[in-house]
Amino acid sequence: MSKFRLDYVWLDGYTPVANLRTKCMMREFDEFPTLEQLPEWGFDGSSTKQAAGGDSDCVLKPVALYPDPTRLNGVLVMCEVMLPDGSAHPSNSRATIADDEGTWFGFEQEYFLMQGGRPLGFPVGGYPEPQGEYYCGVGFKNVSSLGREISDTHLDLCIEAGINHEGINAEVAAGQWEFQIFGKGSKRCADEMWMARFLLLRLCEEYEIDVEWHCKPVKGDWNGSGMHCNFSTTHLREVGGKEYFLKLMDAFEEFTEEHIAVYGPENELRLTGLHETQSIDKFSWGVADRGASVRVPHSFVKDDKYQGYLEDRRPNSEGDPYLIASRVIQTIQSVPTA
Ligand code: ADP
Ligand code: MN
Ligand code: MN
Ligand code: MN
Ligand code: MN
Repeated sequence: MSKFRLDYVWLDGYTPVANLRTKCMMREFDEFPTLEQLPEWGFDGSSTKQAAGGDSDCVLKPVALYPDPTRLNGVLVMCEVMLPDGSAHPSNSRATIADDEGTWFGFEQEYFLMQGGRPLGFPVGGYPEPQGEYYCGVGFKNVSSLGREISDTHLDLCIEAGINHEGINAEVAAGQWEFQIFGKGSKRCADEMWMARFLLLRLCEEYEIDVEWHCKPVKGDWNGSGMHCNFSTTHLREVGGKEYFLKLMDAFEEFTEEHIAVYGPENELRLTGLHETQSIDKFSWGVADRGASVRVPHSFVKDDKYQGYLEDRRPNSEGDPYLIASRVIQTIQSVPTA
């Protein structure tokens, strides 16, 4: 027997953006535990906007686990929040995802690293060089050593935790970065995105740096932060076809409002039609078009097959990947495949 530390992680009830919360318990196991061996646990929902004080107990139900790369015998436990009667808590966005066999998602999370209230690389009371050389940039004038260290270390942590991290790049604005998480299955991908966010936040505590998830933290001619949602289904990957694709895009257009409603708060500040975005009230798709709502990769239209994955560019950096995936799946399921 050894003692393992189980760090339970969940989403609180704050709106419009939930915070990550965590607490740790020690438990003895013969070896690294399986999901089935992890007990349900409770917390004080009156401290997280998930319950009233008089009836404050909420339930944590483990749904995924990851070895913790930086804690002795550590287990990171992603949880759903449940009501005492066993049903999903109203704040439980993961529970809204419909069964989606064969759906693959890839999220591109953009964010700013902030020190002393300013993005890394912004001088006190002023601005650095205008955008241009920061994107995928190299060299100290473009990329701070701290930013590089954090984004590289975060990648290592995710890999060690078994999270399917797909890559990183310095972004268009100074102090702005991106990482990508890919998963076969929407819940799997979204769980890993939330845990990757958790690992980034916890890593940045050591540097006294904040992660700014807001989609437009710097006003003016500076890119905002998105969380492009790349998706494919078995049908899109294996059958596809122009006719189906056009019907799918019609459905995306029809449900524009429903999509925008879960694509992250204050997205109108970012989806302006500038800085590689489409305006918030318009829907468009285009091959290789970074000014479209949905970008169709060249590989998708190759040989007129209309097969592969699509990129919805509208979700923003503060969006909840559970809600985003849930809505995308709902719209896909509204379109008959035959
Ligand atoms: P870009 O910055 O050009 O938009 P990225 O490489 O940052 O592209 O992100 C594209 C993402 O698309 C990858 O991270 C990957 O996870 C995802 N992706 C690739 N193929 C598929 C697929 N078949 N289904 C869903 N997502 C996919
Ligand atoms: Mn207590
Ligand atoms: Mn990208
Ligand atoms: Mn990007
Ligand atoms: Mn993208």
